[in-house]
Amino acid sequence: MTELIDKLEKDGILSKEEFVSLLKNRTTDDEKYAAQKARSIADSFFGNKIYLRGLIEFTNYCKNDCLYCGIRRSNTKAERYRLTKDQILECCSSGYELGYRTFVLQGGEDPYFTDERMIEIIRSIRAVFPDCAITLSIGEKSEESYRAYFAAGADRYLLRHETATVQHYEKLHPKELSLENRINCLKTLKRIGFQTGCGFMIGSPYQTPENIANDLIFIHELKPQMVGMGPFIPHAQTPFADNAAGTLRDTLFLLSLVRIMEKNVLLPATTALATIDPKGRELGILAGANVVMPNLSPVSVREKYKLYDGKVCTGDEAAECRRCMEKRLNSIGFETVVSRGDYIGGDYAAY
Ligand code: SAH
Repeated sequence: MTELIDKLEKDGILSKEEFVSLLKNRTTDDEKYAAQKARSIADSFFGNKIYLRGLIEFTNYCKNDCLYCGIRRSNTKAERYRLTKDQILECCSSGYELGYRTFVLQGGEDPYFTDERMIEIIRSIRAVFPDCAITLSIGEKSEESYRAYFAAGADRYLLRHETATVQHYEKLHPKELSLENRINCLKTLKRIGFQTGCGFMIGSPYQTPENIANDLIFIHELKPQMVGMGPFIPHAQTPFADNAAGTLRDTLFLLSLVRIMEKNVLLPATTALATIDPKGRELGILAGANVVMPNLSPVSVREKYKLYDGKVCTGDEAAECRRCMEKRLNSIGFETVVSRGDYIGGDYAAY
């Protein structure tokens, strides 16, 4: 299968049939080959530097009912919380002290956070931390809302497409939600000028190699600046409680393929990956990732922002997370940088 991996590097894309064949037939040697190639491409853009994003999980109220997600509205056992603007700003301040220059505000789709409230929060962060990037991850909104957030000072937006296959999308979501709207949101975000991230879970229920091939082709066509990918992990209070989690092997291989395909894309080694394996983040970086997103949320709410069971790092203060991350990265020859870590265009010079 190494010819297909070489072809992916050279052409930046494969046909659907080729992706499916690669996903189904690759050996562990092929995975190693892909990881080495992915790492050397990442090295050519970022060297041994890893970008840090401080994740602030500011609300776990959600009006949606995605079947895989622990904070879906039907989960009556979830203990709901919201952070105040001042609490969010405090998270940013402690993050800033620790060297974070990107704050990611993530939450459920919480109607309490109207555009007016979001704009006020974004403006305040922008005013106090002019040298930092503000990333939003708050779901599907109207073009008007996205434009207002951008005008208020938000720079980036994460909205995983979840799966690029309509039939699969419908198995993971209630009928009010559509893949069409999700994709329109992503296109709108890009058009407005956000550095935009799509992505999907590895091993989500009903996912087939054909679905994953569609995801890779979708990513290549959208040309996002960021791609978020982690294993699906079941949550006990969801309809998928008894489904198996995505595997380490599959997740690492897909990180490598996305790096080989999209070259300079910003690619995190996610908390979900760290949750399924104690060395998940390190292995993700060695497979081609170049971003980590430690938690800046107050420890008192960490356990409550539970999208899946077993989430790691819920007990550590921000400073402790930061130290732990540095140690982990150093152990594999990498280090974090104090910078916004924006998407860089340009050539894949080493190629
Ligand atoms: N409400 C926002 C943020 C969602 S949470 C939005 O709609 O974009 C961020 C991501 O967590 C989701 O996009 C999803 O891909 C992932 N996620 C949700 N439940 C998960 C689970 N059980 N296992 C792994 N990842 C999950």
